[in-house]
Amino acid sequence: MSRKTKLIVTLGPATESSEMIGKLIDGGVNVFRLNMSHAKHEWAAEMTQLVRKESKKRHAHIAVLFDLTGPSIRTGDLEKAYELKEGDKVEFRRADVSATIPLSTTVNYPGLMHDVKEGNTLVVDNGALLMRIDKVLDDRIICDVRTPGSMGSRRHINLPGVRLNLPALTEKDHKDLALAVECDADFIAGSFVRDAAHVRELRDAMKALEGEAQIVAKIEDQEAIKNIDAIIQESDVIMIARGDLGIEVDFEDLPILQRRIVKRCHELGTRVIVATQLLESMIINPTPTRAEVTDVMNAAYEEADSLMLSGETSVGRYPERCVEAIVRIATRIERTGGHGFGQNVILRDERQKTARAAVTLADSLADALLVVLTRRGVLANQVALMRPRTAAFFAFTPKERVCRQLSLTRGIRAFQMPFRSNIEETVQLATEQLREAGLVREGTPIVIVSDILSDHFAANSILLHHA
Ligand code: PGA
Ligand code: MN
Repeated sequence: MSRKTKLIVTLGPATESSEMIGKLIDGGVNVFRLNMSHAKHEWAAEMTQLVRKESKKRHAHIAVLFDLTGPSIRTGDLEKAYELKEGDKVEFRRADVSATIPLSTTVNYPGLMHDVKEGNTLVVDNGALLMRIDKVLDDRIICDVRTPGSMGSRRHINLPGVRLNLPALTEKDHKDLALAVECDADFIAGSFVRDAAHVRELRDAMKALEGEAQIVAKIEDQEAIKNIDAIIQESDVIMIARGDLGIEVDFEDLPILQRRIVKRCHELGTRVIVATQLLESMIINPTPTRAEVTDVMNAAYEEADSLMLSGETSVGRYPERCVEAIVRIATRIERTGGHGFGQNVILRDERQKTARAAVTLADSLADALLVVLTRRGVLANQVALMRPRTAAFFAFTPKERVCRQLSLTRGIRAFQMPFRSNIEETVQLATEQLREAGLVREGTPIVIVSDILSDHFAANSILLHHA
């Protein structure tokens, strides 16, 4: 595998067959995402099984990510969509009170009226409609329509810059979380995470159900940006959820925030995903726009761990072409090098310092391979975050789950292999596997980094050995 940037795709009506899932794996997908805002439970369970089956057939370590809806605010059910004109007045009311003007809808968050102020902007349907809040009452707000458009049922509402007192997890999230654990999800993402306590709450709820997934925190609003360091430190993975984030902040700030978060994730040692609208136009077109090519290139250049597609593969016309486009663009930019934020990793413990030394050694040897022996994947992720320049970078680990959880880590390919009680044998076995897979030639220098030597003796170590 010459591509380092990993790829997450969202499953949906366009991709829900085992044949298509197989094709996407063959095309280079590493992780499949189930968006619980749309997925029914039965369907999500079935998709998980298909992914497991198709990856097993190919001996590929492919992960499943359950993306929880989170506390999103939505309009209520309307018999018919409202066609709104500039200057129209629209009422958003608590579900237990009735309409006072003709254009009125309920909202699913009764606390809304207490969090907003007159003059705040209210955005409906991912930016399709802009309104100004004119009047705030105890049980309703009245808005003035600023841009015309249609407003349908259960449309998403954003309130840029407003601090919302929503819970971290809704009742629906708890149900979806239980399903994710039942399906043995590899990753569970929390939406609209606003501080580190939200991440802990999700992790604790998951652990209480005896789940073993890793936690992805989706950064979607200004509150999360304020608390970014604490959230990064509390999470296994950060997702820059540009769909909502791009509405919640001024759009000219979005690329700057993206770069800043990617950099901070490197420094603090947490993996990072860039998500949403990477190839938006390919939902209907067979080729990307020039701007999209540049955007994908930029995210790969920043050396994010993974890029994520949403509508492009869930409902789009060209899911396979989208995967091909990401692979082509990422592979191309990787040939010329990346931003190098891996140099900024803050080395906090001896293990990280050992990892740094191993990366420096491997990068200094011509055609060297880098191999990490890792039980839980922690050391592998730390080595990966230093962004080694070696062409090949492998992890060996006894657990299948750890292999899957490394699937969104940049640059790494994981092998499942039981460890022997002494390091020589373990290294020998790993080298044989690489040889069998055609990944190593006679005499190739292999740098092995490990924090497990044997069952009886633990130490950080670096070995240099020739195949
Ligand atoms: P969503 O999250 O697709 O669940 O809204 C991603 C984003 O907001 O970018
Ligand atoms: Mn979102």
